[in-house]
Amino acid sequence: MNLEQHLNEITGKAYGKSIGACTHIQLYASILQLVKERAAQVPAITGQKKVYYISMEFLIGKLLSNNLINLGIYEELKEILAANGKSLAEIEDIEPEPSLGNGGLGRLAACFLDSIASLGLPGDGIGLNYHFGLFKQVFKNHLQNAERNEWIEKFSWLCPTGTKFDVCFGDRKVTSVLYDIDVIGYENGVNKLHLFDLESVDERLVKKGITFDKTAVDKNLTLFLYPDDSDEAGNLLRIYQEYFMVCNGAQLILKEMKEKGQDLHRMNDYVAIQINDTHPTLVIPELIRILTEQEGFTMDEAISVVSKTCAYTNHTILAEALEKWPLAYLEEVVPQLVPIIKELDKRIKAQYKDAKVQIIDRKKTVHMAHIDIHYGYSVNGVAAIHTEILKDTELNHFYKIYPEKFNNKTNGITFRRWLLSCNRELAAFLTETIGDGYKKNADELQKLLAKKDDQAVLDKLADIKQGKKEALAAYIKENEGVEIDVNSIFDIQIKRLHEYKRQQMNALYIIHKYLEIKDGKKPSTPITFLFGAKAAPAYVIAQDIIHLILVLSEIVNNDPDVSPYMKVVMVENYNVTYAEKLIPACDISEQISLASKEASGTGNMKFMLNGAVTLGTSDGANVEIHELVGDDNIYIFGEKSDTVIKHYKKADYVSRDYYEKSTVIKEAVDFIVGKQALKVGKKENLQRLYNELLNKDWFMTLLDLEDYIKTKDQAFADYEDRQKWKKMMLVNIAKAGFFSSDRTIAEYNRDIWKLR
Ligand SMILES: *Cc1c(COP(=O)(O)O)cnc(C)c1O
Repeated sequence: MNLEQHLNEITGKAYGKSIGACTHIQLYASILQLVKERAAQVPAITGQKKVYYISMEFLIGKLLSNNLINLGIYEELKEILAANGKSLAEIEDIEPEPSLGNGGLGRLAACFLDSIASLGLPGDGIGLNYHFGLFKQVFKNHLQNAERNEWIEKFSWLCPTGTKFDVCFGDRKVTSVLYDIDVIGYENGVNKLHLFDLESVDERLVKKGITFDKTAVDKNLTLFLYPDDSDEAGNLLRIYQEYFMVCNGAQLILKEMKEKGQDLHRMNDYVAIQINDTHPTLVIPELIRILTEQEGFTMDEAISVVSKTCAYTNHTILAEALEKWPLAYLEEVVPQLVPIIKELDKRIKAQYKDAKVQIIDRKKTVHMAHIDIHYGYSVNGVAAIHTEILKDTELNHFYKIYPEKFNNKTNGITFRRWLLSCNRELAAFLTETIGDGYKKNADELQKLLAKKDDQAVLDKLADIKQGKKEALAAYIKENEGVEIDVNSIFDIQIKRLHEYKRQQMNALYIIHKYLEIKDGKKPSTPITFLFGAKAAPAYVIAQDIIHLILVLSEIVNNDPDVSPYMKVVMVENYNVTYAEKLIPACDISEQISLASKEASGTGNMKFMLNGAVTLGTSDGANVEIHELVGDDNIYIFGEKSDTVIKHYKKADYVSRDYYEKSTVIKEAVDFIVGKQALKVGKKENLQRLYNELLNKDWFMTLLDLEDYIKTKDQAFADYEDRQKWKKMMLVNIAKAGFFSSDRTIAEYNRDIWKLR
């Protein structure tokens, strides 16, 4: 059956109408159905060994256009719809974005699933089906409000499977139900994302905003995603969620093995389990528990095979983000695992005297990462510099014991979403210019380097960028009600709000620029500063930084002396859908974390691929971007990681010293609590932020501020040389191939999973 007949058949059955007579919503439901039917025809990916990627988050984004692209029917369907007077783009808008992740870590998991399937590797995701997911951000009075994010609708990608498991918390028992989402590889087979839900979940538990009874575990477990990926408050509910996920995951893995007749004693020949950050760590003691209690394994046998099956990815060096749970919490939530964890700890204590490598410390706190490192066979960081810091500093004690376990896997992004789907114009032009080999072999993007002096190519890249800027401006006008100048420089910082990412430094630059323009020093080309960021609701200073940015945007955009030359916009509810519109339109990509703190970053890669130039510190994958494009095609500033690490060690960074010795810094910081800001904003928030910057500034904003201002001004000046800038765009696109998650996954497979 051809595509048009197939779709007509579905709309006919569902609505008694042909394509042309359907509403866009009816077509959305019908195309969803069509994709599911087509995916069912695509063979499942099989093989002797399979990887399970376990993660508390999968920030998958909308799936419609990606699935159509990966099935190879996007263009054809678009034309069929157009011939019937319908717009695929408008139909895509109808799809709600699944709200199953916080930020980079969850987005990475989603990119990885796409690449695993696209490389034809057998590998499924295991996670949770949060009904309201991560909160929806709404701005009121220049402050962030959190609302529930209802994303599950009648028509959705979730497919009920009928699979159910019992999960016990001590003697309390709940039942899970499993939903699957197809992961369709690019011109390849299909894997699954398995999302477990609580059978007895009760949405009525949620009262105002995102508040609910935290103790009603049998009703609340899968209501919300813990809204923070880098700061773990001790929270029983979080442990309940983690155990619920891994208990289900372990049962599913063993069930699948048994169905295939595989010998559990040789689990590591058939299964690899990749533990995405420490959140799924309990899968290790849980598997050991099941194997010893139910499968007749001795403790030695169980520990041995599980340790050869599980591999751990570290995502952060922020000490406060490494999960540690009081043993008492585990005794309350999962008493059945405590004897196992104690046994694991006993074995380590017998072998190593060093207190730093023990699982249960003297304060009876359980260090989750230590379980992963001792009882997993691989420990990887997510960018070269990050892995080096782990080896040399943060996990040095472990590296000395297990040098062979440590390896680096620099993150990547799927080019299907971050180029083919979000920037079809650029993808089409690349195909026209260098052929379409880059779609399967991203390194072929380097062919573009040969066109570095081809004026037509350079001009076309700039035209495409201009088109995307116009599209973004229209979207922002509609969604935020703000008019932005499509001929201005688009300078964009979009990522979770965290002090280490230093949105506050960007805000201080904006104050500086505002004061300069008030003084009569006008930029040659106007600048639009764009932000997007959610802050964990409990993270007070992060809320204050959002407040400052919103206050600045009010002041700047309404000042007739200044607004022709600069505007500040913070978009509401930044998510994958918004990222797909912002990134193709970006000129300057802000990647300004304090060196040593951003493990990798993946936003930086998406921007580069879409022809933005990075303004960043020597941190995370910026370092590798810098090596690839060379000094002339990136703006690097700020202190290096070794200097920063020394400051922490000696505790000798005093922000007030920087404030006192620089009038530029002083003026910018003082503005936060000046008359103008206090007129628009709230004293409590602004004063607290001011005090924080002056008296603490844990992430050393003022350390790099002057260099940041200087380097950013240089970037704006260089933008005036359009020819030079177009060449920088070209080099960035051409060198982005390394950051394809296909490359990352091929490395995971080669070094860790060894699927074939
Ligand atoms: C890629 C992405 C991130 C990660 O951005 P970083 O700049 O690497 O922190 C976060 N959120 C969304 C929606 C993304 O698409």
